[in-house]
Order: sequence, then structure tokens, then C-alpha cells
Amino acid sequence: MYNNAQGGNGIVAFRYIDLQHATKNFSEKLGGGSFGSVFKGLLTDSTAIAVKRLDGVRQGEKEFRAEVSSVGIIQHINLVKLIGFCCKGSMRLLVYEYMPNLSLDAHLFRSNTKVLSWSVRYQIALGIARGLAYLHESCRDCIIHCDIKPQNILLDTSFVPKVADFGMAKFLGRDFSRVLTTFRGTIGYLAPEWISGVAITPKVDVYSYGMMLLEIVSGRSNNTCKENSSSGDHSAYFPVQVARKLLAGDVVGLLDDKLHGDVNLDEVERVCKVACWCIQDGESNRPTMGEVVQILGGLLELEVPPIPRLLQAIA
Ligand code: ADP
Ligand code: MG
Repeated sequence: MYNNAQGGNGIVAFRYIDLQHATKNFSEKLGGGSFGSVFKGLLTDSTAIAVKRLDGVRQGEKEFRAEVSSVGIIQHINLVKLIGFCCKGSMRLLVYEYMPNLSLDAHLFRSNTKVLSWSVRYQIALGIARGLAYLHESCRDCIIHCDIKPQNILLDTSFVPKVADFGMAKFLGRDFSRVLTTFRGTIGYLAPEWISGVAITPKVDVYSYGMMLLEIVSGRSNNTCKENSSSGDHSAYFPVQVARKLLAGDVVGLLDDKLHGDVNLDEVERVCKVACWCIQDGESNRPTMGEVVQILGGLLELEVPPIPRLLQAIA
């Protein structure tokens, strides 16, 4: 094994040279986002890893600390596992367990991947909800992820979902119910309270989760109707259609064509209802992630949700 310092919590402080070797000098790129690039690697004990190299330390330092101190100390089957990190000069690297089945967006929106069956989608929805419920409700501090979207959900060999990318995560002490923070997140998944500038709560993740559920059902990205919005026609905006069809009792029309109708309709209706509750304008009307877990697990029933006012205004 490597000649690395092992911290008390099991996180490894890697030497840069070892990561350089493991990744064949950062040659196989898996992805990249706002804060850096991610490369595939192999440790000498043949553990496959993903190494995230943050560019521009000044900008990346906060994200680096946020990740090490959040995923570094918590463990859950539905959260990506941080194996270690590396600091060398101004360089910052994070080492994760490698997830062989890419991120959720690849399966939902790209045609060169295997179509996810309904039951797999349902398990993915439930798994993500469990991971988020754990972050919100079961850690010492409440952790708000702040950037829930399909690109940040990774899939393991058995398609078990893992919430990843804690670069924007925010900690909320137990005695506080909300926190004022600078704007973070991704257009298309942002709760209205981000825009109105009030202090945020874990319900911002619930909102983003709801938007993502709609994408899981439909196989369509919520961000792909720009053509329509510029011409002033917002009725094609998918969340609006969902709300309408839910009220009309027609969820079949919302389904991803690639599923060929091969679904459990009770589950589809359940997912659509939960999604619509999650994207309510008022955060107090949204369920907690713990409640979402219960609903998807069939332990709690839901009424038909009202159409969110913002969506209504668009429609
Ligand atoms: P960013 O801050 O750049 O968005 P992410 O942690 O979201 O960083 O990683 C960017 C992309 O790299 C992901 O969308 C995914 O495609 C890939 N990736 C990240 N971590 C892993 C991993 N552990 N295993 C496999 N691929 C990964
Ligand atoms: Mg990301």
C-alpha cells in the first residue's frame, strides 16, 4: 500500500506522486464541472478511484474544505465515499471510490446508455431520498447539499444511487433552522427562496429533488425548453405539464417513451405527486426528505397537490 498518513476517521492523506501514478498522470478524464476536473485511477491494491482536482485554489479552497469536512466524516450507502485527499502547494485533490455506472444524467438524457427500467428508477428515487434524509436529519449538523441534480448523482455497479459533489454544501448547526448564505446551485433546480434572498433551509434540497424526480419520470431535462420560453410559450415547460396532468389524473402521458409503458402505475403516480409537493413555492408546504422516504416506501399517503403558484403563473 501507499506510504500515507491515515487520519483517525479513516480518511487517507495521499502523496501527490501516488495520485499521479494512480491516474497515469491525470490522463483519463471522467468529468468536469465548475470547480475542477475528475480523473479515473487505480490504487496499487486495485481499488478503482476517481480523483477530483480542484483548479484555482483561491476559488476552490472553500469547496475543498466543504467536501472534506462533510463527506469526510459521514457515511451512508447513498452518499459517495471519500477515501482521501491531497494537498500539495496550492493543489487540492479529493479521492473517491470510483462509480462505474456514470452519473444519472447520462442514463436519463443521453441515448448511448442503457435505458433504466421503471423499478430501477424507483429505487434510485428512494435511495437519493434516503441519502438526503440522512444528511438533513441524522448527522450531528444538518447538512444542506445545495446542488442536487442528476449530474451529481452517481451510480454504482448495481445502480445504487450515491449523492456526490458536496462542494456547495452548507452546514446548519442543530440550534438553527435556517441559514443565510450566498447564492448557490444550478438553474432549473433552484427553490424560489434563493431568488427572494431569505435564509434557506433543507427545503431547498427538497425542491431540487422534486425537479429531479420529474426528470426521472420523463427522461427529459427540465432545462431544455429554452426555444419555447423565448417565444413566450411556457406551457411546454415540463413541470407545468406535470402539475396539469396530475390534476387531470393522467400521469401516463408524462412517462419517458423509452419505458414503453412498462411501469407500475401506482408508483408513477406516487412519484409524480411527491414531486409536485416537493416543488411547492412555500417551503412549509414541501415534505421533509424523511417524509419523502416514507411516502415512496408506501408508509404514508398523499393528497393531490395544488399546482405551485409560480408554475401556474408561467402557464
Ligand atoms: P464538479 O464540482 O466539477 O461538478 P463532481 O464531483 O460533480 O464535480 O464531478 C464531476 C463529474 O465527474 C460527475 O458528474 C461524474 O460524471 C464524474 N465523477 C465524479 N465523481 C466520480 C466518481 N466517484 N466515480 C465516477 N465518476 C465520477
Ligand atoms: Mg457536479
